[in-house]
Amino acid sequence: MSAFAAVDIIRAKRDNEVLSNDAITWVLDAYVAGQVAEEQMSALLMAIVFRGLNETELATWTDVMIASGERLDLSSLSRPTVDKHSTGGVGDKISLILAPLVAACGAAVPQLSGRGLGHTGGTLDKLEAIPGWRAVLTNREVLDQLESVGAVICAAGDGLAPADRKLYSLRDVTGTVESIPLISASIMSKKIAEGTGALLLDVKVGRGAFMKTRERASELARTMVALGEGHGVKTVAQLTAMDAPLGRAAGNGLEVTESVDVLMGGGPQDIIDLTLALASEMVALVGIDVDPAEKLADGSAYRVYREMIAAQGGDPDAVMPVAAQREELVAARDGIVTSIDAFEVGVAAWRLGAGRARKEDAVSAAAGVLTLVREGDTVEKGQPLFELHADDEHHLTLGREALRDAFVISDQEAAPTPLLIERVAKS
Ligand code: URA
Repeated sequence: MSAFAAVDIIRAKRDNEVLSNDAITWVLDAYVAGQVAEEQMSALLMAIVFRGLNETELATWTDVMIASGERLDLSSLSRPTVDKHSTGGVGDKISLILAPLVAACGAAVPQLSGRGLGHTGGTLDKLEAIPGWRAVLTNREVLDQLESVGAVICAAGDGLAPADRKLYSLRDVTGTVESIPLISASIMSKKIAEGTGALLLDVKVGRGAFMKTRERASELARTMVALGEGHGVKTVAQLTAMDAPLGRAAGNGLEVTESVDVLMGGGPQDIIDLTLALASEMVALVGIDVDPAEKLADGSAYRVYREMIAAQGGDPDAVMPVAAQREELVAARDGIVTSIDAFEVGVAAWRLGAGRARKEDAVSAAAGVLTLVREGDTVEKGQPLFELHADDEHHLTLGREALRDAFVISDQEAAPTPLLIERVAKS
């Protein structure tokens, strides 16, 4: 007979007691093995949402999640490894530019990613807009591509932290996602299991992010940095603004096009600035003394991008699919754009067909929104603010409705919001 009963562990956390390492190990292992019922794990997760986990409990919880699956060994590579994880934003196509850029600087970038759910897009969905591109690779293929190209963006295999997959699905339907220890353990267990030597966390703050306030984002960043460092991964976090969408494009193929624009020397300034700031942190984390701005400007990053796409079966020269339905939304008055709400724009892109409501849903490669103005721009009545792209009339209508409250035009000047908010490193 087991030394523990799930109900005792639930009661203990409910009453704010500290759980022993053995209790945490037992309950997670038993849950993954199907011996703790879904309703019991739901109750425990809800108790954790309210009571939290202390540092020791969180370290154990994360260790058990890592140990539930395989751990990649990247130590045979000739380059130092460094990855980036973003907590998710609207128009956040930074990985598509950053991974080849940092590889062009001399590091290996293993980006094991997920698909999008809800209003934030997933990196894999974006790259799947490229004909032929393959998200699923074997571990051997990941290692070979890291050695030959220096960057890989692919699906995190089922073998990595399988406990997280089961727990995350349950959290998603039980209102237990929004907990700093549970989010930290979920993200960091996957990143530690992936085997990267260093990690930069891009923790988004604002209207379009999980974390709406700087205080919560800062606490999440500190918790994840401590977990990474505690597991031997050099970890730094940057809190970055997610009030307005990043760049102009939100939607899969549209974001690929915008990323290629940046890699070819053009593109929106906020995307360039954020990518270079994150790339500088990443190369510094692994002690490489190369200026990423030079590698972007001289075309090296674009060359690596082309190799990275081709290595996974994609055609880097493919033109992105064009939406059958396109429409502009215009300003109803003269004035200054004082706010563009990233959350609303993300919802609009999702409703237009770029995102999914359930894991099984298909996404459109062509659908999405182009935001044609920035906060602070002066606009005239009738000037286009957004361009909507959809595969059919129905989705176009849904997107149009979602965009209605996505922006404010007034007579007041808008105070510019800085992109980089706070840097969090090991204390
Ligand atoms: N992303 C994850 O991988 N896990 C969470 O809990 C939240 C966001």
